[in-house]
Amino acid sequence: MNTRNAYKIRASRSSGRNRTAPVSMAQGNKVGNIPALDNDLSSGYIAPVCDSMPERNCRHPLTNMRQNAHLARCEESITNRFYSITSVLKHLGNIQHNENFVALANDITSKELDFNFPLQSLESAWINGLDMKLLYSKSIFNAINSSVNQFSEDLGRNEDSKVDTHSFFLDCGYHSVDITPCSDGRLKGLSKYIFRLPLSAITIRNSYAGALLNVESNVRDWEKIELSRLRNPSSGSSASRYLKIVVYHRSSSDPLHQGCAAHGSNDKLAAEAGLEKLTEFHSAIDNTYSCGSQIDLLLIGVDTDNDSIRIHIPDSNGELSIHRFVDTADLYNETLNLNSDQARVALFNSIDKSSDMSGWGKGEGKPSEGMRKVISNLLEYNLSQIEYVADLYGGSYPDLGHAEQFISVGDGFQEIQLRNIAYYAHLDTVEEGSADLDIGIKIFSGLNIKKGLPIPIAIHYRYDSKVPGSRARVVQKSKRVMAAILNRYKELAVGNNLFFQLSVQDLPLGSDLEIIDKEEL
Ligand code: ZN
Repeated sequence: MNTRNAYKIRASRSSGRNRTAPVSMAQGNKVGNIPALDNDLSSGYIAPVCDSMPERNCRHPLTNMRQNAHLARCEESITNRFYSITSVLKHLGNIQHNENFVALANDITSKELDFNFPLQSLESAWINGLDMKLLYSKSIFNAINSSVNQFSEDLGRNEDSKVDTHSFFLDCGYHSVDITPCSDGRLKGLSKYIFRLPLSAITIRNSYAGALLNVESNVRDWEKIELSRLRNPSSGSSASRYLKIVVYHRSSSDPLHQGCAAHGSNDKLAAEAGLEKLTEFHSAIDNTYSCGSQIDLLLIGVDTDNDSIRIHIPDSNGELSIHRFVDTADLYNETLNLNSDQARVALFNSIDKSSDMSGWGKGEGKPSEGMRKVISNLLEYNLSQIEYVADLYGGSYPDLGHAEQFISVGDGFQEIQLRNIAYYAHLDTVEEGSADLDIGIKIFSGLNIKKGLPIPIAIHYRYDSKVPGSRARVVQKSKRVMAAILNRYKELAVGNNLFFQLSVQDLPLGSDLEIIDKEEL
């Protein structure tokens, strides 16, 4: 059974399955049946109380139910596109020698996958059988493209929240938020689900294996932002700052095996490496431009079992420590019985308490007011995600490890943000991104090659239509990257185990996805 299918999980819940408390949270609070998220909204339903404490409502007071319901629908529509592929292909395999196979196949794929395979690939099935590797890859690429198109259609409906986010960060004193997570697929839903930050003009996101960011490339991103700010003063006051966030990850239930592969599944190493990269980035800008004071740093750890986060609290000098943090898994429990106002105060107090700690994590005072506001909001938003994972997955994901569907190479699809949907290797050349790609290929050797499935690789770059010749150069770059991947992993290529889709897209969010067809290749 596909245990990640939100609909099935909600259906099983409504048929009598008990919800269990989030892992490492709310221990001992066995909760009764929770209805579908949508029902909570439409009927004004009050969540069932805990069996052990009947007077208590077990929804966290800061949960955004409307947003959770919306995200559940997004997740379901995207996962359905990917997770029905293998069962459809098995069905086609069973009927491929039927007399009217082509018509039957078209009927099935129209209904189940919402597209048809090229006629040629079906018509020759009676001779050599279906080319399952080709059909599998085509289905994955079609699921990617449909998901991107769905995002673009939804984009207009979320304009308000984008504007709110932009205003919020400007109010806190930040004109740009630059996030570097690990490229692990379990962080693919970071912005949309775990942080609840809508994509907007002020956010940049580039992933690297182990969150080991390329300092030079990140400095170039910063230079670009600062130059455009000089030319466009309305994008933030002269005193506003640049917020750089590095996100590492860990697994609380299987820390020695399901943590970050790039750091040998060692939480401490992952956090230390993230802190080191932040320091290098800061020093690079301070040494080159003498304006390190205009950059704030934040280190965040994600528990990929339940999406709770650990925010490392900067001191008054902006210094971070791997030992000084606030963890939303603890906060969830501590604030579950409070009302929303009390819970918000508790979030703020937790930051102060962390700032006052002694011992290994001792720092020099509290962070700035703007930084405290950013942190308290991230903490609050993440509580909704903890509730989301509790509702849909009983508090911990069934797929603790890797379950990605494709490797995303290049600029990545900002439009597809969902846990474990893709392994993302951000790179301009295969040479510089070889470490990230090697890890991705290793992951997919276990996920796909072992089962006889190929590795679908979606190479995707964005171009700037304002710059003459930009699209043509980006298409050429995509082709170079594909050739270099084929060359680096010759054995897989010879075995017909690598399939590619090349696509480009104009810079503005929601631009059309342009597939590079055979004529352009
Ligand atoms: Zn990782």
